[in-house]
Parts: sequence; structure tokens; C-alpha cells
Amino acid sequence: MPEEVRVWQYIEKTIRDVCDMFGYSEIRVPIFEHTEVFQRGIGETTDIVEKEMYTFTDKGGRSVTLRPEGTAAVVRAYLEHKLYGKYPLAKLYYMGPMFRYERPQAGRYRQFHQFGVEALGSSSPYIDAEVIDMASTLYTSLGIRDFEIKLNTIGCPKCRPAYQSALRAALSDKLERLCKNCRNRYERNPMRILDCKEDVCKELTENVDGIDEYLCDECMVHFTKVKECLDSLGINYTEDKRLVRGFDYYTKTVFEIVYKGLGAQDAIGGGGRYDGLVEEYGGPHTPAVGFAAGLERVILTLKQSGNLPEIVDELDVYIACIGEDITTTAFSLVSSLRRKGISAEMDYSGKSLKSQMKSANKLGARYVVILGPDEIQKGYVLVKAMSTGEQDEVALKGLEEYIASKKRV
Ligand code: AMP
Repeated sequence: MPEEVRVWQYIEKTIRDVCDMFGYSEIRVPIFEHTEVFQRGIGETTDIVEKEMYTFTDKGGRSVTLRPEGTAAVVRAYLEHKLYGKYPLAKLYYMGPMFRYERPQAGRYRQFHQFGVEALGSSSPYIDAEVIDMASTLYTSLGIRDFEIKLNTIGCPKCRPAYQSALRAALSDKLERLCKNCRNRYERNPMRILDCKEDVCKELTENVDGIDEYLCDECMVHFTKVKECLDSLGINYTEDKRLVRGFDYYTKTVFEIVYKGLGAQDAIGGGGRYDGLVEEYGGPHTPAVGFAAGLERVILTLKQSGNLPEIVDELDVYIACIGEDITTTAFSLVSSLRRKGISAEMDYSGKSLKSQMKSANKLGARYVVILGPDEIQKGYVLVKAMSTGEQDEVALKGLEEYIASKKRV
């Protein structure tokens, strides 16, 4: 609805400003892609691919999917347009609707909106920290204060298999007691068990080791440096060894931003490094890192914390007509004001002066011009400043200039 859209536009503008500051350029990827784009990138054994995609066969017999997230599509576009040849480090952002067939509840919808960034082409831990800094700057700029940044590393294909084996061994005698989903995850994707929201699974995995002891040197050094960078920027975070995120493409750093007041769906954003994804699609080795924020949850957070901005419509001038026969004169005046960049409105339904004044108020008009046969004859109009009630007599010819000069102040 229009009044909600105003809040969305404010959020989108803030996002664009932050992106400009951090050097990200917008990319617009399609709303749907070949199903394979998501299957391959996100991973066959993830919840999204197994259960949550809106997948259809089109009239040409092709399987297409409404995008459930942005990264896979950005990587597809990055390769198709050979951006690796153009930019040593491609810093891209996107914003728009995503679709997941999940059980709808507060903060979880089947069509929702994400803003996301992807930095492709660098393995530096500084970029991980920069992306987290950007996320943090964004939430702060939007007026969100009490968010928490959860941070973890999930290793890389070199060191992760050993941890996965250790995890299976540690959970083998508990397998029967895990929830159905986690029993499925046990062989195919055991780290996802750590992320399960079922109480029984949380309890059963409470004391299992984190990945730390299994990390290879490279992953260990990388994680230490990311933390040092965040410390140097004074960004607070909590290490959470259970944080694994729901996508197969992540390597090394993963993070999530939560706002505790939101209840069960408390993640307002999340991201991580994905050093192998571009190669997975057949491209050159391109280490990358990204982040996505859920905009509905950002709005819920702003509402919850009483920080939702009240954005009111603004109108420069309302032309109130006395008598219907001056409608045509008013009509051309409104049009010429608009052409000068002054927003203007009038009434076409022959309302009384009193109800025109009411309309002007409702529309948030800063000035009302009263225009009647006498005014037209004299060539002077009465201009009323709505905030102070002050009135000025202004030459009709100089009206645009008068309003424009007020607009500039
Ligand atoms: P993800 O792509 O799963 O990492 O999600 C990134 C962010 O998008 C989450 O932190 C949420 O804020 C938001 N999000 C994910 N799924 C949904 C959904 N079904 N409805 C609303 N927001 C969502």
C-alpha cells in the first residue's frame, strides 16, 4: 500500500547510499532462471532445493524456477557476461523479490524481498570484514541498534570432510533420536544438523565439537584475520560454532545478523564466503563473499523497536479555486508549476473552498494559492503558508518564482 511503499522507498534509498559508499554497483538479475542454476549452486541436499523452490515447466518443456535467493543468479550472470575479465574485483548488489515455498509465519513469507551484495574476485579476509562492516553500517543507518552479528567458519573442501566424519561418529549413537530431517542430513550434509531448530536436535548436538580443531592452516589463518579486522573496526560479534547456514556453496567465513525481538525468525541477514561457486559453474577460480538482508524483517525490526520512520507525503502547492469557471486557468497554472519542478495539485470536482483547504491539508501542501475571478482580474493571488498560516499577496506572473524561491530555502 502507498504508505508502506514510502517506508520501502526510504529503506531502498538508504541501501543505495550505503552501496555507493562501499563501492557496489547494482546488477538486475532475472526473476526466474533455469532450475539447474539454483540446483547446482545452492546444493541438492539443502532445504531450499529439496523443498522450497517454486519450479515450473514452461510451454517449451523447460524447467524454470522463481529465484529463491540472489547469489546463484549473480554468479550465472557474472560468468555469462565474463565480468571476471572486466573487473579484477566485481562488487555487485541486487534488490528484489525472492520466492520460497516455506510454511508462512511471522517474518517468513513465500514471496519476500532481499537486498544482497556479492564481491567476486578476492580471497582477502579484509573483504569478508568489509562485507560485514557494510551490513553493520546498513542496519545502523536504518536505525536498528541492538542487532547481534554471529560469526563462524565452516572450513573448505580440504578440511571439512574430516570434520563431517567426526560429526557423524559423534552422532552415530544418537541418530535414532534426531528429527526426521536430521536423520536425512546425517549422511548427506551432517553439519546442517547443528543448525536444526528442533529442541531435541539442539540438545543432542549440544556437546559436539566445533570445527576449530579440524580447520586447515589456510582456513584458520583466514578466520583469525577476519576477526582481527572486525576488532580493528570496533565491530562486535559473537562466535557461534553452530552457525552453518543453509547453502552448500559456503566456504570459510559464515555470518548471520539477528535481532532478538523478532521471535523464531530472528535473522535479519546473513552471508559468507563462497570460494568454489564460480568454478562449480564452469568458470575460472574466483573466490567470493556475499551477504543478503531480508527487507520484511528489517521493517518488522524497525516497527518492533519503535524506529519505523514516519514518512509523509509532501506537496509544494495546492491551487484552491473559487468558482468552477476558473478551473481551466488553474489547470494550466498547475501544469506550468509542475514543469518547473514544483509539485502541484488542484480539485476537479467543484468542491467548496473549505473542503479544498481540507484536501490541501491532507495532501501535506506547504502552500495554498487561492484563485478566484477577482484574483485573475487583478493579477494577484493570495498564497498561504500552511505551517504558519502567514499569507502573502503575490503577482500571478511571479508565482512560480515565489514558490521556487521558498522551495530552495
Ligand atoms: P538466506 O538467503 O536464507 O541467507 O536469507 C537471508 C535473509 O533473508 C534472512 O536473514 C532473512 O532475513 C530473509 N529471509 C529468508 N527467507 C525468508 C522468508 N521466507 N521470508 C522473509 N524473509 C526471509
